[in-house]
Amino acid sequence: MIPGGVNSPVRAFTSVGGTPRFMTSAQGPWLTDADDNAYVDLVCSWGPMILGHAHPAVVDAVRAAAGQGLSFGAPTPAEIELAEAIIARVGPVEQVRLVNSGTEATMSAIRLARGITGRKVIVKFAGCYHGHVDALLAQAGSGVATLGLPTSPGVTGAQAADTVVLPYNDLDAVRAVFAERGAEIACVITEAAAGNMGAVAPVPGFNAGLREVCHASGALLVVDEVMTGFRVSPAGWFGLDPVAGDLYTFGKVMSGGLPAAAFGGSAELMSHLAPAGPVYQAGTLSGNPVAVAAGLATLRAADDAVYATLDANAKRLGALLGDALATEGVPHRVQYAGSMLSVFFSSDEVHDFAGAQAAATWRFPAFFHALLDRGVYAPPSAFEAWFVSAVLDGSCWETIEAALPAAARAAATATSPAEAAQ
Ligand SMILES: *Cc1c(COP(=O)(O)O)cnc(C)c1O
Repeated sequence: MIPGGVNSPVRAFTSVGGTPRFMTSAQGPWLTDADDNAYVDLVCSWGPMILGHAHPAVVDAVRAAAGQGLSFGAPTPAEIELAEAIIARVGPVEQVRLVNSGTEATMSAIRLARGITGRKVIVKFAGCYHGHVDALLAQAGSGVATLGLPTSPGVTGAQAADTVVLPYNDLDAVRAVFAERGAEIACVITEAAAGNMGAVAPVPGFNAGLREVCHASGALLVVDEVMTGFRVSPAGWFGLDPVAGDLYTFGKVMSGGLPAAAFGGSAELMSHLAPAGPVYQAGTLSGNPVAVAAGLATLRAADDAVYATLDANAKRLGALLGDALATEGVPHRVQYAGSMLSVFFSSDEVHDFAGAQAAATWRFPAFFHALLDRGVYAPPSAFEAWFVSAVLDGSCWETIEAALPAAARAAATATSPAEAAQ
């Protein structure tokens, strides 16, 4: 009934093999599938569920909002409160526009950047994923990386021609492109810290360097915090590395598991957006009251203690993964971007997409399935970050610890493509 059986490609287990688990419910740190198997959730709906599933304050807020009507197609007081909550956390953001998905947020931010500058070229980084926006699908991470696509058929040459793709963490490459084409470049878009090729933090000074290069030539820096925003600190990556971008995109955590996202920036830049300005952008369900209620309740509950717990849980999980793989002698790096983490089957630290692709990703399916069989739900791709919630408890850690030795053994004994060819 559904292409590939899924409504978003990475869910299909294409790169790890096997049949995806169909989930029927989730509570706190646990997912339950249609056969009544329980899993410790280390995906958290790809990031949003920092408070765990069905958090009482979020569910109550959603119930209350739903009882007041599902959509009005008119402004609501709660939208202002959610905008205020975002603005209060992220210093450079003075105004936000709510949209329905991270894809819409980046698509709209790019249009706004082009509209403001009157330029057409955008610069993105290989392995960074910004949603399935045509112009941003070139050498993208996440599902595009998982399925091994360079770009997607259906994206025209013209759409891709205005996109320059550079290696992540390579400021010299950015400077070289600006030296040649600076006057044509509307913006650089970057993940605040890359999470869609696995967790790859920017090297010190990378984001600051992007800002400098952009501003020297009148281009805008678009910082995509859809994944990092409100997860890695109360202010997202900006809270860890306070380099002010010009435009920001948010999603995932800010809507608590319902479909909503946002883009924002200074009041001056955002004033170019319709109806205040000429750059058009709209949405029938934008600012949906139920999604806004989930987002507000999530941000209100996400206090300093939650962030401290997320950090501690990420470190604890990373240490367990590293110990288990070291015991079996599997070359690996556990990498962090704040409280996002991932395992690269590589002896070298990974700084860019080429490094992520060079890792022994063929070890991942065996590792993944051994965990899954033992009740641990890891992301079903070597190119995705792992996400902890703040509600992992003793029984979760016992399940993870019990599963890891066999999973590390499975990674150690996995067959490499070279061996398989013999
Ligand atoms: C998930 C993600 C997006 C796209 O968000 P959707 O809601 O899936 O459209 C954009 N940018 C980044 C960095 C993401 O992680």
